[in-house]
Amino acid sequence: MIPYGRQDISQEDIDAVVEVLRSDFLTQGPTVPKFEEAVAGYVSVPHAVAVNSATSALHVACLALGLGPGDWLWTTPITFVASANCALYCNASVDFVDIDPLTCNISVTALETKLKAASLAGRLPKIVVPVHLGGQSADMQRIAELGREYGFRIIEDASHAIGGSYLGAKVGGCRYSDITVFSFHPVKIITTAEGGCATTCDDDLAVRMRLAASHGVTRDPALMTHAPDGDWYYQQVALGYNYRMTELQAALGLQQMKRLDQFVDARTERAVRYSERLVHLPLDLPVMQDGAVSAWHLYIIRLQLDRIAASHKDVFSDLRKAGIGVNLHYIPVHLQPFYRAMGFKLGDFPNAEAYYRRAMSIPIYPGLTEAAQDRVIAALENVLR
Ligand SMILES: *Cc1c(COP(=O)(O)O)cnc(C)c1O
Repeated sequence: MIPYGRQDISQEDIDAVVEVLRSDFLTQGPTVPKFEEAVAGYVSVPHAVAVNSATSALHVACLALGLGPGDWLWTTPITFVASANCALYCNASVDFVDIDPLTCNISVTALETKLKAASLAGRLPKIVVPVHLGGQSADMQRIAELGREYGFRIIEDASHAIGGSYLGAKVGGCRYSDITVFSFHPVKIITTAEGGCATTCDDDLAVRMRLAASHGVTRDPALMTHAPDGDWYYQQVALGYNYRMTELQAALGLQQMKRLDQFVDARTERAVRYSERLVHLPLDLPVMQDGAVSAWHLYIIRLQLDRIAASHKDVFSDLRKAGIGVNLHYIPVHLQPFYRAMGFKLGDFPNAEAYYRRAMSIPIYPGLTEAAQDRVIAALENVLR
């Protein structure tokens, strides 16, 4: 089976992890700060807080922004459940905004309409979480304008998008958001096995996220209620969790960061090749927005169902039978049983639901050979004929 995504691990990556295993620190040593510096430097942001997953990063981001009971967080239904669950961890409520049928990212028009209604009803969101689906930035400039107008804060879920750019700057620089979150799960652009990171330009948000990710405990006298009792002293000043990244993970991440641009270039080459070679098939191919340069985490095709005899389900299973590891990103979150139990139902977000009926992700990753990619293309030609 050709998977839809796969990590790329070099001998240098392995050696770096082994070196940490032989060192004094497996956690809370010098490597995590180095990794954070590498990420912060790459995206040109003053603070990067490394944690054990993007899910944790989303949680500490919501905590830092003060999300709590009675507050609302809005996101897109076409995302992984974690983009919405982070609000529930904070005992806040979740709502969704339908997608743009072209880019499949959160629709700015739908967002504006919903904000107007929410403003009248006195139910404006505290946080909006745009997700850069497949690695292409959402329309952040307009979302940030709406944020100023309606007074919400912004967390970019850039789990797919490290290495991508928006309006000439790397995603993660937080020019149009308060916080940006990255994932380093093995299918993503770079990996630390499990891992994630939150970037911000705001000193105070960085401090709060660090506290939330490590028990709410600090050794920094500046954050304490009184001078330290002695050299042993630390204080718990907030309720936090243990979301720390290990030194092993950071060592892997530090190595992977060196190849990030190579990874994105390799993904881009493969995306361009798909876009050239699939153009004759009854498919809608990814649409690139002006100003956004995708990191190409996913290559999502959408079937033109009116031009194909087979059903979406059959095309999917025939491709799997042909050894092509297609996948579907994502099942609309509002249709998950857990969210239906809150009152969401079929028909709530028609563009997201229409997307779900015809989308699939085909294999794309740096190690995908031309021969393997040709097999994917041939299988698609065969199944769609
Ligand atoms: C992968 C992913 C996450 C969760 O990342 P983890 O590091 O696995 O916690 C969150 N949001 C999106 C959009 C993702 O793709």
